[in-house]
Amino acid sequence: MILYNSLGQTKQEFVPHTPGKVNMYTCGPTVYHYAHIGNLRTYIMEDVLEKYLRFAGFDVNRVMNITDVGHLSSDADTGEDKMLKGAKREHKTVMEIAQFYTDAFFADCDKLNIKRPDVVEPATNCIDEFIDMVSVLLDKGYAYVAGGNVYFDTSKLDTYYVFGNMNEDDLAVGVRDSVEEDENKRNKTDFVLWFTKSKFEDQELKWESPWGVGYPGWHIECSCISKKHNGEYLDIHCGGIDNAFPHHTNEIAQSEAYLGHPWCKYWFHVLHLNDARGKMSKSKGDFLTVSLLESKGYDPIAYRMFCLQSHYRKPLTFSYESLDNCVKAYEKLRKRITSLGTDGAVEQDKADALLGKFREAMDNDLNTSLGVTVVYDVLKADANDATKRYVLGELDKVLSLNLLAAAEETPKAENPQDAEVEALIAKRTEARKNKDWATADAIRDQLAAMKVVVVDTKDGISWHYAE
Ligand code: AMP
Ligand code: ZN
Repeated sequence: MILYNSLGQTKQEFVPHTPGKVNMYTCGPTVYHYAHIGNLRTYIMEDVLEKYLRFAGFDVNRVMNITDVGHLSSDADTGEDKMLKGAKREHKTVMEIAQFYTDAFFADCDKLNIKRPDVVEPATNCIDEFIDMVSVLLDKGYAYVAGGNVYFDTSKLDTYYVFGNMNEDDLAVGVRDSVEEDENKRNKTDFVLWFTKSKFEDQELKWESPWGVGYPGWHIECSCISKKHNGEYLDIHCGGIDNAFPHHTNEIAQSEAYLGHPWCKYWFHVLHLNDARGKMSKSKGDFLTVSLLESKGYDPIAYRMFCLQSHYRKPLTFSYESLDNCVKAYEKLRKRITSLGTDGAVEQDKADALLGKFREAMDNDLNTSLGVTVVYDVLKADANDATKRYVLGELDKVLSLNLLAAAEETPKAENPQDAEVEALIAKRTEARKNKDWATADAIRDQLAAMKVVVVDTKDGISWHYAE
C-alpha cells in the first residue's frame, strides 16, 4: 500500500515495523463539547484507513486517547483549560462534562459506523505515566523547570520542525486562538510538559507531582498513551492537519527524546472540512453536529458517503446543496442494491477482479472516491447477483455504508406501513406550509418512532427506513 507520509512529504510504501502488525495511534477528541462534522470527517477517514489496513491483512492495534485535561484554549499552551471552559459554560464539574461528551462522541461515531478503537484511554487515567516521562526528560537534560512549570527544551533537538516543508506561518495555523508570550520559555518553540502555575486559580483537576500540584500538558498525553499501549515503535499516527503543529511536532520531540530512537514511521493527516466561513471549528460557536443533520432529516451515513467521495488530503467544503446531491446518489444506490436477488453461486474470478479494482484504488494513498466508484462498477458488472452481494459485503467492511443492509431491506412497496408513512409526511408538509410547527414536530417524532428517516432535498421530500 502506498500512503502519503507527512514525515518526508512524499507518497511511500507502507511497511510496518513488525511485518503484518500495525500499531496505530489516533488523537482523540477534547471532550468539552460535541464533535462537529469537521472533527468527524477526520475520524471517518481514519476509520476507513484502519478498516482498509485490516482488509489488506494487517493485524491492527488502534489506540485513541480522550483529552479530558491539559488542552488549553490555544494549542500553544496558553489560555484556559478547554475542559474548565466547558464546565463553566454548563455549570457542571469537569468530570461530568468529560463523561457526557465522551458518550456523545461515541454515539456520533456509532451513527457514522466509525468503529471504536481497540484501546480508548482518558488522559486522567495516566497521570503516573506522564510524571514518569517528564522525570526522564528532565534527567536526560531535555527539560527544565521555570516559573513552576516544566518545559521541553527544543534547542536540544537536531531538528524540531519535522514536517519540513511547512514554514512557520503555515505551522502557526495550529496555534488556535490568541497566543500570549510565556516569559519562562527559553526558546519560543519550547512547550509545557507539566503545569503548576495557571492563571486560572479554579483549575479543577490537579495532581501531586515532584514539581508541585498541577496538571499535564496536552502533548505529553499522546506520547505516553501511545507508548503504554503500542510500545516503543509506532507505525502510524493520525489526526487532523491542524494537529501537525504544534501537537504532533511536540509529540515527536518528547517521544524520541525519551526513547532515544525514532518513534513513529508514518504520519497520516486529514485536511479540514470547511464551511462558508473557512475551517469549521468549535470556537466559532454555531458548528454543525451529527444530531443537527439528523434533526434536518439526514441519514448520518449519507454524510459518511459525502466524506468518502473526496480525498482525505484535499480540503472539503460543506454545503447543504452538496450533501443533498450525495443523499440523492446514496438513495439511488441503495435502491439499486435493494433490487439485487440472491440466486446463484459466487463467481470467484469475477469477484476477485472487482475486489482487485477496489484494492488498486485504496492502495493508492487511500483513494476512497475511486473506492466508492467500484461499488457502481459492481452493480454494472457482468456477474450474477450472488457475486455482486458478496463483493458489496467485502467492500462494505471498509466503506461501512450499510450497503448490504440495503439489499436485505424489504422493498418499500411491500411494507404495509408505507401508506401510513406517506400520509404522515403529507400532513407534516401541510403543517409546515401553515407554519404549524407544533404539529410538524409531533409528526416528526412519530415518524422517528416508526424508524423513518425523512430527507428534505431541494427537489422535495424523500424517505427511507433507518437500519
Ligand atoms: P479536538 O477535539 O479539537 O481535539 O479535535 C479532534 C480532531 O478533529 C483532531 O484530529 C483535529 O485535528 C480534527 N479537526 C479539528 N477541526 C477540523 C476540521 N474543521 N476538519 C477536519 N478535522 C478537524
Ligand atoms: Zn495527540
